[in-house]
Amino acid sequence: MTKILIRGAKVLGGEPQDVLIDGETIAEVGTGLSAEGAQVIEADGKILLPGLVDLHTHLREPGREDSETVLTGTRAAASGGYTAVFAMANTFPVADTAGVVEQVWRLGKESGYCDVQPIGAVTVGLEGKQLAELGAMHDSAAGVTVFSDDGKCVDDAVIMRRALEYVKAFGGVVAQHAQEPRLTEGAQMNEGVVSAELGLGGWPAVAEESVIARDVLLAEHVGSRVHICHLSTAGSVEIVRWAKSRGIDVTAEVTPHHLLLTDELVRSYNPVYKVNPPLRTERDVMALREALADGTIDIVATDHAPHPHEDKDCEWAAAAMGMVGLETALSVVQDTMVETGLLDWAGVAERMSFKPARIGSLSGHGRPIAAGEPANLTLVDSAYRGVVDPAGFASRSRNTPYEGRELPGRVTHTFLRGRATVVDGNLA
Ligand SMILES: [Zn+2]
Repeated sequence: MTKILIRGAKVLGGEPQDVLIDGETIAEVGTGLSAEGAQVIEADGKILLPGLVDLHTHLREPGREDSETVLTGTRAAASGGYTAVFAMANTFPVADTAGVVEQVWRLGKESGYCDVQPIGAVTVGLEGKQLAELGAMHDSAAGVTVFSDDGKCVDDAVIMRRALEYVKAFGGVVAQHAQEPRLTEGAQMNEGVVSAELGLGGWPAVAEESVIARDVLLAEHVGSRVHICHLSTAGSVEIVRWAKSRGIDVTAEVTPHHLLLTDELVRSYNPVYKVNPPLRTERDVMALREALADGTIDIVATDHAPHPHEDKDCEWAAAAMGMVGLETALSVVQDTMVETGLLDWAGVAERMSFKPARIGSLSGHGRPIAAGEPANLTLVDSAYRGVVDPAGFASRSRNTPYEGRELPGRVTHTFLRGRATVVDGNLA
């Protein structure tokens, strides 16, 4: 068994402590721990967090291995400090059967960089018409508990109601991509001042907000649990806040890019800023940050959406929607939430590890940094400043909106059950 002593790390941003890893487990946390028989990592005041958990990752395999594979995606995840990711179901074929979710789950096991928990589709083929075999996916080796048609909205209220009723039986959750389809036909960007000036088709806030309002009411009616993907507007925040105050079992996520970027960037016509839901206004960004700080929005999820060069490097209207995010998420959260004083590191751990693991019923991750717990850990050099260079990404795709931007913080080490997947900022 390998012993590793992480010396002088600020656990969750607190006072420096030593953390002794023995095999797959944290053996001891304290000060002045003996280094005997252990490999020593001098943390020098770096921040030690529980391994990050992403509830919303597109790994693209099976079917779009030109943009990402489970292996490259989990390497990107480890680089970004993640020890577990939930893989979205919009693959080819769609992950709507026990067979496909088990395939993704097995590929995750083989990758060794990061645990992969498949998400099952809500409807057959993501077509929104017929409920997929949710029970069979739950009972499979993959043990699916999160279901989503992400990329598409479950817009039929009866199908959504049935899905919520079905997952209730085993404590599952439906994760909704809230987008009223008719209101967003031909949409190219946020509907507002900028879209009017540029003459691009608008994606109005109400198309997101109306679906969230319906779904929290459905969850209340059925007594089930709903999760809202990538919340992007100030109005959505108000609806979720109201729903929580009513005691409705709703959770919500925000992406790093919606915490930092606005629709003003679309003026460049650079398709790297094309994403769904679209970048919104400064007012929305500020409301999302506040909501993440006060707990109205529960977690940060990346919506890591890799696309090959040819699908992004074209004119705006033809470009695919989505951005990669796993390798920059923590830096963007440090920039927008920690360095603005809105969150401390314990708050970051809650929103990027503890809570996403709880929402997804994932055991072994999102655990306290304490003796006897699995050694899933991330060491962060928060003093680091660097310019984002996608050439260094582990992801197969390069569609980052942060190229050339200076962002704070760097993951120097990631441990998956005691095994280093990242050492000194490089994949092990
Ligand atoms: Zn989505």
